[in-house]
Amino acid sequence: AFAADVVPQAPEDPLFGLMAAYRRDEDPNKVDLGIGAYRDDNAKPWVLPVVKKADELLRADPNLNHEYLPIAGLAEFTSASQKLIFGASSPVISEGRAISLQTISGTGAVHLGALFLSKFYNPSASGAKTVYVSNPTWANHNQIFSNVGLPIAQYPYFSKETKGLDFAGMRSTIESAPEGSIILLHACAHNPTGVDPTQDQWKELATLMKQKSHFPFFDCAYQGFASGDLNRDAWAIRYFVEQGFELLVAQSYAKNFGLYGERAGCFHFVTSPGAEAKDTVSRVGSQLAILQRSEISNPPAYGARIASLVLNDADLFAQWEENLREMSGRIISMRQALKKHLDELKTPGTWDHIVDQIGMFSFTGLSEKQVLKIREEAHVYMTKNGRISMAGLNTKNVKYFAEAVDKVVR
Ligand code: PMP
Repeated sequence: AFAADVVPQAPEDPLFGLMAAYRRDEDPNKVDLGIGAYRDDNAKPWVLPVVKKADELLRADPNLNHEYLPIAGLAEFTSASQKLIFGASSPVISEGRAISLQTISGTGAVHLGALFLSKFYNPSASGAKTVYVSNPTWANHNQIFSNVGLPIAQYPYFSKETKGLDFAGMRSTIESAPEGSIILLHACAHNPTGVDPTQDQWKELATLMKQKSHFPFFDCAYQGFASGDLNRDAWAIRYFVEQGFELLVAQSYAKNFGLYGERAGCFHFVTSPGAEAKDTVSRVGSQLAILQRSEISNPPAYGARIASLVLNDADLFAQWEENLREMSGRIISMRQALKKHLDELKTPGTWDHIVDQIGMFSFTGLSEKQVLKIREEAHVYMTKNGRISMAGLNTKNVKYFAEAVDKVVR
Protein backbone atom coordinates (compact mmCIF):
# COMPACT_ATOMS: atom_id res chain seq x y z
CA ALA A 1 0.00 0.00 0.00
CA PHE A 2 2.98 2.28 0.40
CA ALA A 3 4.23 2.07 -3.15
CA ALA A 4 6.78 4.58 -4.32
CA ASP A 5 4.19 6.85 -5.87
CA VAL A 6 2.31 7.04 -2.56
CA VAL A 7 5.30 7.81 -0.36
CA PRO A 8 7.80 9.85 -2.33
CA GLN A 9 11.38 10.17 -1.16
CA ALA A 10 11.69 13.27 1.01
CA PRO A 11 14.82 15.39 0.95
CA GLU A 12 17.21 15.05 3.86
CA ASP A 13 16.87 17.75 6.52
CA PRO A 14 19.33 20.33 5.22
CA LEU A 15 20.82 21.19 8.61
CA PHE A 16 21.25 17.66 9.89
CA GLY A 17 22.56 16.68 6.43
CA LEU A 18 25.16 19.42 6.72
CA MET A 19 26.22 18.09 10.13
CA ALA A 20 26.75 14.63 8.65
CA ALA A 21 28.82 16.02 5.76
CA TYR A 22 30.98 17.92 8.25
CA ARG A 23 31.60 14.76 10.26
CA ARG A 24 32.68 12.88 7.12
CA ASP A 25 35.17 15.59 6.14
CA GLU A 26 38.70 14.59 7.19
CA ASP A 27 40.40 17.92 6.58
CA PRO A 28 42.21 19.05 9.74
CA ASN A 29 41.18 22.68 9.19
CA LYS A 30 37.47 22.00 8.77
CA VAL A 31 35.11 24.46 10.46
CA ASP A 32 31.51 23.80 11.48
CA LEU A 33 29.37 26.92 11.24
CA GLY A 34 26.16 25.01 10.61
CA ILE A 35 24.23 23.90 13.63
CA GLY A 36 23.14 26.46 16.19
CA ALA A 37 24.84 25.01 19.24
CA TYR A 38 27.31 26.83 21.44
CA ARG A 39 30.96 25.83 21.22
CA ASP A 40 33.81 26.97 23.45
CA ASP A 41 37.05 28.47 22.17
CA ASN A 42 38.28 24.94 21.41
CA ALA A 43 35.23 24.26 19.22
CA LYS A 44 33.93 21.83 21.85
CA PRO A 45 30.42 21.58 23.30
CA TRP A 46 30.23 23.42 26.62
CA VAL A 47 28.39 22.05 29.61
CA LEU A 48 27.53 25.19 31.59
CA PRO A 49 29.31 25.05 34.97
CA VAL A 50 26.01 25.81 36.69
CA VAL A 51 24.36 22.92 34.85
CA LYS A 52 27.17 20.62 35.96
CA LYS A 53 26.55 21.73 39.53
CA ALA A 54 22.80 21.20 39.30
CA ASP A 55 23.41 17.81 37.73
CA GLU A 56 25.62 16.77 40.64
CA LEU A 57 23.03 17.97 43.16
CA LEU A 58 20.33 15.99 41.38
CA ARG A 59 22.38 12.81 41.20
CA ALA A 60 23.24 13.06 44.90
CA ASP A 61 19.54 13.14 45.80
CA PRO A 62 18.62 9.68 47.17
CA ASN A 63 14.95 10.34 46.40
CA LEU A 64 15.52 10.89 42.69
CA ASN A 65 13.41 8.47 40.67
CA HIS A 66 12.17 8.01 37.13
CA GLU A 67 8.43 8.34 37.67
CA TYR A 68 6.23 10.17 35.17
CA LEU A 69 5.83 13.90 35.50
CA PRO A 70 2.28 15.29 35.50
CA ILE A 71 0.77 16.04 32.08
CA ALA A 72 1.65 19.73 32.36
CA GLY A 73 5.16 18.90 33.53
CA LEU A 74 7.15 19.84 36.61
CA ALA A 75 5.16 22.54 38.43
CA GLU A 76 8.17 24.33 39.92
CA PHE A 77 9.72 24.42 36.45
CA THR A 78 6.68 25.90 34.70
CA SER A 79 6.11 28.50 37.40
CA ALA A 80 9.78 29.53 37.34
CA SER A 81 9.54 29.69 33.54
CA GLN A 82 6.68 32.15 33.83
CA LYS A 83 8.74 34.37 36.11
CA LEU A 84 11.69 34.21 33.78
CA ILE A 85 9.83 35.16 30.65
CA PHE A 86 7.22 37.61 31.98
CA GLY A 87 9.18 38.99 34.95
CA ALA A 88 8.65 37.91 38.57
CA SER A 89 6.31 40.81 39.32
CA SER A 90 4.28 40.54 36.12
CA PRO A 91 0.51 40.97 36.51
CA VAL A 92 0.19 37.94 34.24
CA ILE A 93 1.34 35.90 37.23
CA SER A 94 -0.37 37.77 40.07
CA GLU A 95 -3.66 37.85 38.17
CA GLY A 96 -3.45 34.21 37.13
CA ARG A 97 -3.68 35.11 33.45
CA ALA A 98 -1.26 32.47 32.16
CA ILE A 99 -1.36 28.74 31.80
CA SER A 100 1.94 27.00 31.15
CA LEU A 101 2.89 23.49 30.13
CA GLN A 102 6.31 21.93 29.99
CA THR A 103 7.11 20.82 26.44
CA ILE A 104 9.65 18.96 24.33
CA SER A 105 11.96 21.98 24.19
CA GLY A 106 11.05 24.96 22.00
CA THR A 107 9.98 22.81 19.05
CA GLY A 108 7.41 21.06 21.20
CA ALA A 109 6.14 24.38 22.49
CA VAL A 110 5.72 25.76 18.97
CA HIS A 111 3.94 22.55 18.02
CA LEU A 112 1.59 22.61 21.00
CA GLY A 113 0.73 26.23 20.23
CA ALA A 114 0.18 25.43 16.56
CA LEU A 115 -2.06 22.48 17.40
CA PHE A 116 -4.04 24.55 19.88
CA LEU A 117 -4.52 27.33 17.33
CA SER A 118 -5.58 24.87 14.63
CA LYS A 119 -8.27 23.47 16.92
CA PHE A 120 -9.53 26.52 18.76
CA TYR A 121 -8.43 29.80 17.26
CA ASN A 122 -11.41 31.75 16.05
CA PRO A 123 -10.55 35.00 14.32
CA SER A 124 -14.11 36.30 14.56
CA ALA A 125 -14.33 38.84 11.76
CA SER A 126 -12.25 37.63 8.84
CA GLY A 127 -12.45 33.87 9.23
CA ALA A 128 -8.78 33.77 8.25
CA LYS A 129 -6.55 31.50 10.23
CA THR A 130 -3.32 32.18 8.44
CA VAL A 131 -0.01 32.18 10.29
CA TYR A 132 2.38 34.88 9.12
CA VAL A 133 6.03 34.01 9.52
CA SER A 134 9.06 36.14 8.73
CA ASN A 135 10.87 35.71 5.44
CA PRO A 136 13.20 34.03 6.17
CA THR A 137 12.42 32.15 9.36
CA TRP A 138 13.56 29.05 11.21
CA ALA A 139 12.80 26.42 8.57
CA ASN A 140 10.94 24.18 11.02
CA HIS A 141 8.21 26.81 11.51
CA ASN A 142 6.83 26.05 8.06
CA GLN A 143 6.71 22.30 8.72
CA ILE A 144 5.22 22.61 12.19
CA PHE A 145 2.34 24.86 11.13
CA SER A 146 1.59 23.00 7.92
CA ASN A 147 1.56 19.68 9.82
CA VAL A 148 -1.46 20.92 11.76
CA GLY A 149 -3.11 22.30 8.63
CA LEU A 150 -2.67 26.01 9.26
CA PRO A 151 -2.10 28.06 6.11
CA ILE A 152 1.19 29.97 6.11
CA ALA A 153 2.03 33.36 4.64
CA GLN A 154 5.20 35.39 4.93
CA TYR A 155 5.99 38.93 5.94
CA PRO A 156 9.16 40.53 4.56
CA TYR A 157 11.89 40.69 7.18
CA PHE A 158 15.42 40.81 5.86
CA SER A 159 16.66 43.47 3.50
CA LYS A 160 19.35 42.14 1.17
CA GLU A 161 20.49 45.69 0.51
CA THR A 162 21.02 46.85 4.08
CA LYS A 163 21.48 43.34 5.55
CA GLY A 164 19.20 44.67 8.28
CA LEU A 165 15.47 44.72 8.96
CA ASP A 166 13.04 45.49 6.13
CA PHE A 167 10.74 47.22 8.58
CA ALA A 168 8.63 48.98 5.96
CA GLY A 169 7.94 45.68 4.21
CA MET A 170 7.20 43.88 7.46
CA ARG A 171 4.87 46.65 8.56
CA SER A 172 2.91 46.88 5.37
CA THR A 173 2.32 43.13 5.07
CA ILE A 174 1.16 42.89 8.67
CA GLU A 175 -1.05 45.90 8.04
CA SER A 176 -2.70 44.37 4.99
CA ALA A 177 -3.08 40.87 6.50
CA PRO A 178 -6.72 39.88 7.14
CA GLU A 179 -7.91 40.97 10.56
CA GLY A 180 -7.17 38.48 13.32
CA SER A 181 -4.23 36.83 11.55
CA ILE A 182 -1.70 34.92 13.64
CA ILE A 183 1.69 36.64 13.56
CA LEU A 184 4.69 34.56 14.55
CA LEU A 185 7.45 36.71 16.04
CA HIS A 186 10.96 35.82 17.17
CA ALA A 187 11.26 37.32 20.65
CA CYS A 188 14.99 38.05 20.23
CA ALA A 189 18.04 36.94 18.23
CA HIS A 190 16.07 36.18 15.08
CA ASN A 191 16.99 32.89 13.44
CA PRO A 192 18.45 32.87 10.78
CA THR A 193 19.23 36.57 10.31
CA GLY A 194 20.43 37.83 13.71
CA VAL A 195 18.38 40.96 13.02
CA ASP A 196 15.82 42.18 15.59
CA PRO A 197 13.40 45.12 15.55
CA THR A 198 14.35 48.06 17.77
CA GLN A 199 12.16 48.80 20.80
CA ASP A 200 10.49 51.63 18.88
CA GLN A 201 9.76 49.28 16.01
CA TRP A 202 8.29 46.70 18.42
CA LYS A 203 6.03 49.44 19.78
CA GLU A 204 4.87 50.31 16.30
CA LEU A 205 4.20 46.65 15.54
CA ALA A 206 2.17 46.31 18.74
CA THR A 207 0.03 49.32 17.86
CA LEU A 208 -0.55 47.99 14.38
CA MET A 209 -1.39 44.49 15.56
CA LYS A 210 -3.80 45.90 18.11
CA GLN A 211 -5.60 47.85 15.40
CA LYS A 212 -5.88 44.76 13.25
CA SER A 213 -6.72 42.39 16.14
CA HIS A 214 -3.82 40.19 15.10
CA PHE A 215 -2.76 37.39 17.41
CA PRO A 216 0.91 37.32 18.51
CA PHE A 217 2.78 34.04 18.89
CA PHE A 218 6.30 34.63 20.27
CA ASP A 219 9.00 32.08 19.70
CA CYS A 220 11.72 32.64 22.28
CA ALA A 221 14.70 30.33 21.80
CA TYR A 222 17.53 32.64 22.91
CA GLN A 223 16.58 34.50 26.10
CA GLY A 224 19.78 35.63 27.81
CA PHE A 225 21.84 34.19 25.02
CA ALA A 226 21.35 37.17 22.72
CA SER A 227 22.47 40.12 24.83
CA GLY A 228 23.61 38.29 27.95
CA ASP A 229 20.75 40.01 29.79
CA LEU A 230 17.65 37.89 30.47
CA ASN A 231 15.39 40.89 30.96
CA ARG A 232 16.50 42.75 27.90
CA ASP A 233 15.95 39.69 25.71
CA ALA A 234 12.39 39.32 27.05
CA TRP A 235 11.55 42.97 26.49
CA ALA A 236 9.34 42.54 23.41
CA ILE A 237 7.20 39.84 25.02
CA ARG A 238 6.77 41.89 28.19
CA TYR A 239 5.86 44.96 26.17
CA PHE A 240 3.12 43.09 24.26
CA VAL A 241 1.84 41.70 27.56
CA GLU A 242 1.69 45.25 28.98
CA GLN A 243 -0.40 46.28 26.00
CA GLY A 244 -2.99 43.73 27.07
CA PHE A 245 -2.64 41.25 24.21
CA GLU A 246 -3.81 37.70 24.43
CA LEU A 247 -0.80 35.76 23.17
CA LEU A 248 1.25 32.58 23.04
CA VAL A 249 4.90 32.02 23.93
CA ALA A 250 7.17 29.10 23.05
CA GLN A 251 10.19 29.06 25.35
CA SER A 252 13.28 26.94 24.80
CA TYR A 253 16.05 26.16 27.27
CA ALA A 254 18.21 24.47 24.64
CA LYS A 255 20.62 27.33 24.04
CA ASN A 256 20.55 29.37 27.23
CA PHE A 257 21.14 26.32 29.45
CA GLY A 258 22.98 24.24 26.86
CA LEU A 259 20.34 21.56 27.46
CA TYR A 260 19.83 20.85 23.76
CA GLY A 261 19.28 17.09 23.85
CA GLU A 262 17.45 17.11 27.17
CA ARG A 263 14.50 18.83 25.47
CA ALA A 264 13.51 21.31 28.18
CA GLY A 265 10.98 23.94 27.14
CA CYS A 266 7.73 25.58 28.10
CA PHE A 267 4.57 26.75 26.39
CA HIS A 268 2.56 29.69 27.74
CA PHE A 269 -0.92 30.91 26.96
CA VAL A 270 -1.62 34.42 28.27
CA THR A 271 -5.03 35.99 28.24
CA SER A 272 -5.94 39.68 28.42
CA PRO A 273 -6.79 41.38 31.73
CA GLY A 274 -10.46 41.29 32.67
CA ALA A 275 -13.15 39.61 34.73
CA GLU A 276 -13.17 36.53 32.51
CA ALA A 277 -9.42 35.95 32.56
CA LYS A 278 -9.31 33.17 35.15
CA ASP A 279 -12.18 31.34 33.54
CA THR A 280 -10.52 31.56 30.11
CA VAL A 281 -7.24 30.26 31.52
CA SER A 282 -9.02 27.34 33.14
CA ARG A 283 -10.86 26.34 29.97
CA VAL A 284 -7.80 26.75 27.76
CA GLY A 285 -5.69 24.83 30.26
CA SER A 286 -8.10 21.91 30.24
CA GLN A 287 -7.90 21.66 26.45
CA LEU A 288 -4.12 22.01 26.38
CA ALA A 289 -3.88 19.15 28.85
CA ILE A 290 -5.84 16.90 26.49
CA LEU A 291 -3.68 17.87 23.53
CA GLN A 292 -0.51 17.28 25.52
CA ARG A 293 -1.76 13.93 26.83
CA SER A 294 -2.55 12.67 23.34
CA GLU A 295 0.69 13.93 21.82
CA ILE A 296 3.37 13.10 24.40
CA SER A 297 1.43 12.01 27.50
CA ASN A 298 3.89 13.88 29.72
CA PRO A 299 7.20 15.67 29.14
CA PRO A 300 10.75 14.41 29.85
CA ALA A 301 11.92 15.06 33.39
CA TYR A 302 15.67 15.39 33.59
CA GLY A 303 16.39 18.64 31.75
CA ALA A 304 13.46 20.36 33.43
CA ARG A 305 14.74 19.27 36.85
CA ILE A 306 18.14 20.79 36.10
CA ALA A 307 16.66 24.06 34.84
CA SER A 308 14.23 24.16 37.73
CA LEU A 309 16.98 23.78 40.34
CA VAL A 310 18.85 26.72 38.85
CA LEU A 311 15.81 28.92 38.25
CA ASN A 312 14.54 28.48 41.80
CA ASP A 313 17.81 29.08 43.66
CA ALA A 314 19.13 32.64 43.90
CA ASP A 315 22.77 31.59 44.10
CA LEU A 316 22.61 29.14 41.19
CA PHE A 317 20.60 31.67 39.21
CA ALA A 318 23.38 34.25 39.62
CA GLN A 319 25.92 31.68 38.41
CA TRP A 320 23.73 30.97 35.41
CA GLU A 321 23.65 34.65 34.53
CA GLU A 322 27.43 34.63 34.69
CA ASN A 323 27.55 31.63 32.31
CA LEU A 324 25.15 33.41 29.96
CA ARG A 325 27.37 36.46 29.88
CA GLU A 326 30.34 34.23 29.09
CA MET A 327 28.56 32.65 26.10
CA SER A 328 27.08 35.83 24.69
CA GLY A 329 30.33 37.70 25.36
CA ARG A 330 32.41 35.17 23.47
CA ILE A 331 30.03 35.33 20.54
CA ILE A 332 30.08 39.12 20.46
CA SER A 333 33.88 39.08 20.56
CA MET A 334 33.91 36.68 17.60
CA ARG A 335 31.71 39.10 15.65
CA GLN A 336 34.24 41.82 16.33
CA ALA A 337 37.18 39.61 15.42
CA LEU A 338 35.59 38.50 12.15
CA LYS A 339 34.80 42.08 11.21
CA LYS A 340 38.34 43.17 12.09
CA HIS A 341 39.95 40.48 9.93
CA LEU A 342 37.68 41.28 6.97
CA ASP A 343 38.53 44.97 7.35
CA GLU A 344 42.24 44.18 7.45
CA LEU A 345 41.96 42.03 4.35
CA LYS A 346 40.03 44.85 2.67
CA THR A 347 37.45 42.29 1.65
CA PRO A 348 35.09 43.81 -0.94
CA GLY A 349 31.65 44.76 0.43
CA THR A 350 30.46 46.13 3.74
CA TRP A 351 30.61 43.94 6.81
CA ASP A 352 29.09 46.13 9.52
CA HIS A 353 26.14 43.75 9.69
CA ILE A 354 28.42 41.11 11.26
CA VAL A 355 28.69 43.27 14.39
CA ASP A 356 25.20 44.78 14.15
CA GLN A 357 23.44 41.40 14.13
CA ILE A 358 22.83 39.63 17.43
CA GLY A 359 22.62 36.14 18.88
CA MET A 360 23.73 32.76 17.64
CA PHE A 361 23.61 33.53 13.93
CA SER A 362 24.82 35.93 11.33
CA PHE A 363 23.41 36.25 7.86
CA THR A 364 26.63 36.91 5.97
CA GLY A 365 25.10 37.83 2.63
CA LEU A 366 27.18 35.13 0.90
CA SER A 367 25.38 33.53 -2.05
CA GLU A 368 24.66 29.82 -2.32
CA LYS A 369 27.40 29.53 -4.92
CA GLN A 370 29.90 31.15 -2.57
CA VAL A 371 28.77 28.96 0.30
CA LEU A 372 29.36 25.82 -1.75
CA LYS A 373 32.73 27.08 -2.92
CA ILE A 374 33.88 27.75 0.64
CA ARG A 375 32.75 24.28 1.62
CA GLU A 376 34.63 22.75 -1.31
CA GLU A 377 37.83 24.75 -0.98
CA ALA A 378 38.16 25.67 2.67
CA HIS A 379 36.08 22.91 4.33
CA VAL A 380 33.91 25.48 6.10
CA TYR A 381 30.34 24.28 6.54
CA MET A 382 27.44 26.74 6.64
CA THR A 383 23.85 26.62 5.41
CA LYS A 384 23.17 27.49 1.77
CA ASN A 385 21.43 30.74 2.69
CA GLY A 386 24.75 32.11 3.94
CA ARG A 387 23.90 31.79 7.61
CA ILE A 388 26.78 31.13 9.98
CA SER A 389 26.60 30.01 13.58
CA MET A 390 28.86 32.51 15.31
CA ALA A 391 29.50 29.97 18.06
CA GLY A 392 31.47 27.85 15.59
CA LEU A 393 34.12 30.57 15.36
CA ASN A 394 36.96 30.82 17.86
CA THR A 395 40.30 32.53 18.28
CA LYS A 396 41.97 29.72 16.31
CA ASN A 397 39.76 29.64 13.22
CA VAL A 398 38.28 33.11 12.82
CA LYS A 399 41.17 34.40 10.71
CA TYR A 400 41.10 31.27 8.56
CA PHE A 401 37.38 31.80 7.99
CA ALA A 402 37.84 35.49 7.15
CA GLU A 403 40.49 34.55 4.58
CA ALA A 404 38.16 31.97 3.05
CA VAL A 405 35.38 34.55 2.78
CA ASP A 406 37.79 37.09 1.33
CA LYS A 407 38.93 34.63 -1.33
CA VAL A 408 35.43 33.68 -2.38
CA VAL A 409 34.01 37.19 -2.70
CA ARG A 410 36.90 38.52 -4.82
N1 PMP B 1 12.67 28.41 17.43
C1 PMP B 1 13.77 28.93 16.89
C2 PMP B 1 13.67 30.23 16.19
C3 PMP B 1 14.98 28.27 17.01
O1 PMP B 1 16.08 28.80 16.47
C4 PMP B 1 15.03 27.04 17.70
C5 PMP B 1 16.32 26.32 17.85
N2 PMP B 1 16.99 26.04 16.67
C6 PMP B 1 13.84 26.55 18.25
C7 PMP B 1 12.69 27.27 18.10
C8 PMP B 1 13.68 25.30 19.04
O2 PMP B 1 14.72 24.52 19.33
P1 PMP B 1 14.60 23.40 20.44
O3 PMP B 1 13.44 22.54 20.08
O4 PMP B 1 15.89 22.71 20.36
O5 PMP B 1 14.38 24.11 21.73
